[in-house]
Amino acid sequence: MNPFKYHRAENLQRAKDQQNLDENAKYLAGGMTLLPAMKHGLIQPSQLIDISTIVELGEIQVDAESVTIGAATQHDRVATSSAVQKEIPGLAYLASQIGDAQVRVRGTLGGSLANNDPAADYPAAALALKGQIITDRRTIEAEDFFTGFYATALEDGEIIRKVRFIKPVQSAYAKFKQAASGYALAGVFVALYPNQEVRVAVTGVGQGVFRWLAAEKHYSDSSQVIDLPLENLITDLHATSKYRAHLAKVLFNRAATQIKQYT
Ligand SMILES: Cc1cc2nc3c(=O)[nH]c(=O)nc-3n(C[C@H](O)[C@H](O)[C@H](O)COP(=O)(O)OP(=O)(O)OC[C@H]3O[C@@H](n4cnc5c(N)ncnc54)[C@H](O)[C@@H]3O)c2cc1C
Repeated sequence: MNPFKYHRAENLQRAKDQQNLDENAKYLAGGMTLLPAMKHGLIQPSQLIDISTIVELGEIQVDAESVTIGAATQHDRVATSSAVQKEIPGLAYLASQIGDAQVRVRGTLGGSLANNDPAADYPAAALALKGQIITDRRTIEAEDFFTGFYATALEDGEIIRKVRFIKPVQSAYAKFKQAASGYALAGVFVALYPNQEVRVAVTGVGQGVFRWLAAEKHYSDSSQVIDLPLENLITDLHATSKYRAHLAKVLFNRAATQIKQYT
């Protein structure tokens, strides 16, 4: 690993000031992706700006319409938060299924979204739950945030402060884990909103997360296993595109059935 400076920022402004001084600096949340990437020489930041202890970035707030979670909130805190469990149980469950216990106590919501791994879980929740990614500069709708393979709408030096999830009537997440890492070989998040509005987001099967519009349309028939179109699925050493398509269908039905049991 190349030498680098370390700076622990005590607040958001300090983090931004430090970033302005060094364009090759990187924000450090839990380090779950950043540190392995540095160890492998994939990136060589001159400085790490540690944002993990900034109080504002670790808050969970609930209002009548939404649950807002600070970017540096670790997965384990989301999974065990009584507020998240009560308001959006599907989101708490999703967080509980990320990686292993070590990853869940270090990894963060903001780090996961900023990284936008195509097999990560949170992007599916952000898309299905009408997420708004609130940064130090603007609010980005989840629909506009995920722009491609490990790519997001974030600009250089932009910090995710928090993520606002709109409370659904009911939600459920179904995931098939890749055995070694726990990442999603396929993951399907289903959220039901008033007036039978349904959102279905899929992760793990393509170049990045996407809304499965055909599944949204067919939600009312979800007690039957139906063949819904899915395009641009990937084949890699873990699974073929055909197998991923099968998993997505099974997981969609599983999540949809769970929602119907509770509504
Ligand atoms: C063994 C293992 C198993 C895993 N399994 C899963 C899994 O099953 N499902 C899953 O979804 N994920 C999984 N992960 C990923 C993990 O959950 C982390 O969320 C992810 O690695 C990001 O890590 P982090 O939050 O520590 O961010 P870091 O590694 O600290 O940062 C990642 C990137 O995001 C940037 N960043 C961090 N915070 C912000 C912010 N607030 N604003 C702007 N940029 C920011 C950093 O500069 C860096 O570029 C796994 C990781 C490991 C190592």
